[in-house]
Amino acid sequence: MIKGRCECARVQYEIEGELEDFCHCHCSICRRLHGAAFATWGGVARDEFTYKSGESDLKKYSFSENADSIFCGVCGSRILVDFKPEPDMLYITMGTVIGEVECPPGFHQFVGSKAPWFEICDDLPQHDEWPDEA
Ligand SMILES: [Zn+2]
Ligand SMILES: [Zn+2]
Repeated sequence: MIKGRCECARVQYEIEGELEDFCHCHCSICRRLHGAAFATWGGVARDEFTYKSGESDLKKYSFSENADSIFCGVCGSRILVDFKPEPDMLYITMGTVIGEVECPPGFHQFVGSKAPWFEICDDLPQHDEWPDEA
């Protein structure tokens, strides 16, 4: 069981299963929306994800035709991205996850858009844009 919450704790969620995907995204949209060097995402099965509280406080920002960023309307914490081309998945912000959780091997994506002032200092695979489909 994976649990998470926003900073003000109004929004709480639980995931029954495991992380199926784990990546650090350096695209400019993630950088701006996170206000950070990159965003770390955990892919989970949509039917294993439930809000425990705060659903009425959620706000949505559609940053493209097929992707919504869901965040707490009170404290502004990003909770997840709903990427329409992958209807069975949700991508949760790893920063909102509470405690320790088992993560699949990670990778970096959109390193072609990386912040010039940030250096990647690990040996994880790097993809200029999306990773190729396995
Ligand atoms: Zn909040
Ligand atoms: Zn991104």
